[in-house]
Amino acid sequence: MTKSFNHAASNTTAGSQQALCAYIGLGANLGDAQATILQAIQRVATLANTQLSASSSLFVSAPIDADGSDYVNAVIQVKTTLSAHALLKCLQELERAFGRERPYHHAPRTLDLDLLLFGDQKICTEELTVPHPRMTERAFVLLPLLQLDPFIHIPGKGDANQFAPAIAAQVIRKLV
Ligand code: ADP
Ligand code: MG
Repeated sequence: MTKSFNHAASNTTAGSQQALCAYIGLGANLGDAQATILQAIQRVATLANTQLSASSSLFVSAPIDADGSDYVNAVIQVKTTLSAHALLKCLQELERAFGRERPYHHAPRTLDLDLLLFGDQKICTEELTVPHPRMTERAFVLLPLLQLDPFIHIPGKGDANQFAPAIAAQVIRKLV
C-alpha cells in the first residue's frame, strides 16, 4: 500500500496524529459474498486517514445464531488516525453502500463490518463496544485474526490464542 495519510487537523481524528492499529471483521452471506468481501476490503483501504496494512485469507463458515447461507469472513488490519467512533461510522456507511438492511436481529447480511480491536483501547459506549464482545467465541473472527498475528493481545481478555481450543469444533474452511 502506498496511500499516504492526510495529516490535516480534523475533529474525526483521535486527537493525536499517531496512527493506531485497528482490526476489522468482515462477513457476508447474501449475493456473491466472496466478491462483496473483496470489494469491501478495497473500500476500507480508501477511507480517509486510514491505511490497509494486512488482510487475512477468506474463510467460509456456517451461520451461528443467524439465518441463511454460509458466510464468507475475513479480518483486516488498518492503521488509522480516525477516532474509533469515526471509523465505526465509516464502516456503517460502507455497510449501507453495500445494501445492508436490518429487517430483524441476526438476519442474513450483504455486508457486516465489526470493529474488533482499536489499539489497546477499551471502549464501552451505547454505539460501540471494543474489543468486540463476541470476538473470542467465534472461529470466523478468531482464526483470521490469529492468522494476521498469532500473538495478538485482547485488552481485558489476554492472549487471543488461549481461546482457540474452545472454538476448535466450529466448522470453518479457508477459501483463498
Ligand atoms: P452484529 O454485528 O453484532 O451481528 P450489527 O452489525 O447489526 O450486529 O450491529 C448492531 C450494532 O452494534 C450497531 O448499531 C453498532 O452501533 C453496535 N456495535 C457495538 N460495538 C460494535 C463494534 N465493536 N463493531 C461494530 N458495531 C458495534
Ligand atoms: Mg456488525
